[in-house]
Amino acid sequence: MLLEKINNYEIFRPKCDSTKEVLHSIATFDADIAPALPYLNAELGGWDYDQQNQVLLLKLSAGKWVTLQRHEIAIRGAGDMEESRALLEWIKGQINEVYERRDIITPRYTGQAGLKVMDILKLTPMTNCKACGYATCMAYAAALREGEISLNDCPPLWEEKYREKREKLHAYLESFGWRALDAE
Ligand code: SF4
Repeated sequence: MLLEKINNYEIFRPKCDSTKEVLHSIATFDADIAPALPYLNAELGGWDYDQQNQVLLLKLSAGKWVTLQRHEIAIRGAGDMEESRALLEWIKGQINEVYERRDIITPRYTGQAGLKVMDILKLTPMTNCKACGYATCMAYAAALREGEISLNDCPPLWEEKYREKREKLHAYLESFGWRALDAE
């Protein structure tokens, strides 16, 4: 087991964000988790990974973020203390479980933040039909990059004539470890 103890757990409502019903929390680790970070990035679809400084940013769901460093974790966006503690325990479990399976995981050194909206846009139908609920394919592309929606949300993309675009888009997204929040 890589990580046994989480110490110095602090939870607080940030003064700069006091109007919002969200909590921030921080804690330290008893071990250096750097060896696990590229594997966590691969398995959890990291938003950004700074290999040089060993910082991994995870977007868990809308408004919930986890920042992992060698000996430290910061969680932003939990709704209450119970959720904050549950997230902390979940990430501890993920660190140990993923690290134990590292021999069968291909580490990833890029994050989803490297995805470019224009590159996504070029692989949509580009008809601005609004069937996805967005006013334009550009708006859809931006939401897709953020991991807020999935390919299923663009019905035309599943038509035979857009098969090549769909497959290229899927491969492009996957190459950055993209995970839609609502994807199966
Ligand atoms: S449904 Fe697809 S083609 Fe239509 S606007 Fe949305 S992204 Fe563009």
